[in-house]
Amino acid sequence: MKSRWKLNIDIAKECVLNKDAWIECDENCDGREECENRNIQKSGYKKVTVKTTNGKGNGLFADEDIKAGEYIIERKYSMKYTGMNLWIDAIQDGNRSRFINHLCNLNCVVQQWCINGMPHMCFFALKDISSGTELTFKYNWTLDAKDDADFKSKATVCNCGSKKEKHYMENMALIRRKK
Ligand SMILES: [Zn+2]
Ligand SMILES: [Zn+2]
Repeated sequence: MKSRWKLNIDIAKECVLNKDAWIECDENCDGREECENRNIQKSGYKKVTVKTTNGKGNGLFADEDIKAGEYIIERKYSMKYTGMNLWIDAIQDGNRSRFINHLCNLNCVVQQWCINGMPHMCFFALKDISSGTELTFKYNWTLDAKDDADFKSKATVCNCGSKKEKHYMENMALIRRKK
């Protein structure tokens, strides 16, 4: 996930400008009551349920049909934003989004939206998801490595089952040698 989080985010009057920057509008935008860029604030979580998967422990499953692009659930997490003195704490009851498994064949994406000046990690459907389907996303971690062999010695083998060949959870980021 690429973070677009910045210090001192300005909420624009124009809904489109906010939307492009992954900032939800507040009540002062030009869209007023018709504003469609307050999706996360207005819509609740989709119905989801935690169930046992085939070999991956628990997973999160859709409990209703979800259309491509729809907001599903928010990730509550612990995270320190450097330079902001902001600490977002994981919700104590254990937010169910933590059961969303990594799978290379993903059906969800995570976007970090700014709502009322605060970062929110939100899951959206990448495609139509029918009720009963497991929700999955790709972590998209990067791992610094000198070369392919170095990468393979450090990377985590992915057992998601969506690819036959051996593959890894992380993406390789080549370290450039300093001159
Ligand atoms: Zn708006
Ligand atoms: Zn995989």
